[in-house]
Amino acid sequence: MSTLIYPSITEYRLPKKNIIVISCIDLRLTDDVLNFLHFDNLTNRYDHVALAGTSVSTGATREEHKKLFKKEALEQYDSFAHWKQCLYDHIAIAIALHAIEDVYIIEHEDCGAYRAFLIDSTFASWEEEVKCHKKFAVALSKDIQALYKLNVHCFMIDIRGNVKLLDTAPVIKP
Ligand SMILES: [Zn+2]
Repeated sequence: MSTLIYPSITEYRLPKKNIIVISCIDLRLTDDVLNFLHFDNLTNRYDHVALAGTSVSTGATREEHKKLFKKEALEQYDSFAHWKQCLYDHIAIAIALHAIEDVYIIEHEDCGAYRAFLIDSTFASWEEEVKCHKKFAVALSKDIQALYKLNVHCFMIDIRGNVKLLDTAPVIKP
């Protein structure tokens, strides 16, 4: 029995209250995502929004990232603006109903939505793949922090269920 690799406790501040999780819809990783949340002592302390591609669709609403998208994907999904609005509406109601203080953005390896939406989604290495996911996740993290003043943590999960921290953005208290 092998042991999964998770980020060290020193890498980010573990949430003390409720959180919202933003993940992909990928069915291969449902159990792995839950295992990680349980490991972080978040059992029954999270709202969960699943969007195909996790953060990638929100890139279509940003000028600097929109050019990375296939024209047909932008047409088919109406430039993804309603995807982002749906996500933001769920963050707002999670704050109202459950007083969430943290957001977990969980990207994953071998994402079909990245292939479906982006012009170039062939990665020469794991590092390249991680870099691409980090770009979209961090951009979404910054948007969420600016709007909602929540602690945002971005992760990458591989298809074995190992988790790597991509970025952490705690709210700076005055
Ligand atoms: Zn995916």
